[in-house]
Amino acid sequence: MSNWHPSSDQLIEYSSGSGSTALSIAISTHLHFCADCRHHVNEIESTAAVVFEQQQALSLSTGSFDSLMAKIKQAPQVPAVQERVAKSPTRFPPVIEKLIKRDTESLTWQKPMKNLRVSRLLKDETGMILGLHHMTSGGRVPHHTHRGNEISVVIEGGFSDEMGSYGPGDFIHLSKEHFHSPQADADGDCWLLSIVEAPVKITGPLGWIVNPFLKP
Ligand SMILES: [Zn+2]
Repeated sequence: MSNWHPSSDQLIEYSSGSGSTALSIAISTHLHFCADCRHHVNEIESTAAVVFEQQQALSLSTGSFDSLMAKIKQAPQVPAVQERVAKSPTRFPPVIEKLIKRDTESLTWQKPMKNLRVSRLLKDETGMILGLHHMTSGGRVPHHTHRGNEISVVIEGGFSDEMGSYGPGDFIHLSKEHFHSPQADADGDCWLLSIVEAPVKITGPLGWIVNPFLKP
């Protein structure tokens, strides 16, 4: 079970389909691992469906039951969250597998340092960049801060930094207040999904080499 979760606002945004593509993918990835948040999203969607039906009922001027039923039938169907998080025999959550298309080795990788390689998966309509990070077992990334908000979701393995330790599904919010040096767990490689809204500002002596990933 994951210890780090999206905020309630982010889950509501996700449920209503109003979140950005990159954020929706990150949340969908977290939901793959987190039963608590899946339950929360189901509750939000059930509540939204009831509110929708009530609004439809109120909007009827004649009070015709047939007319109400017709309107409900025309309503766009909200896909059940279970469909989006269906278990898959694939290695990563299905939403990530779809983005990777074939396998991780067929992606274009940049290897800014010995222990880290990064691949950009997409840039969404809001300019957020979704990427895959692969840290080798025990590898450390130099100290850096973040100019904008950044979200990381662990998809395999784990890592730790000055704030804590993270495992699969953990949804980690980072901001410019964070100055950290993540290190992959020693017992295996760590794979992360990462969303950045602005280039990482590196502060360590070797830090400049992390930046190529973030070039527009
Ligand atoms: Zn959660």
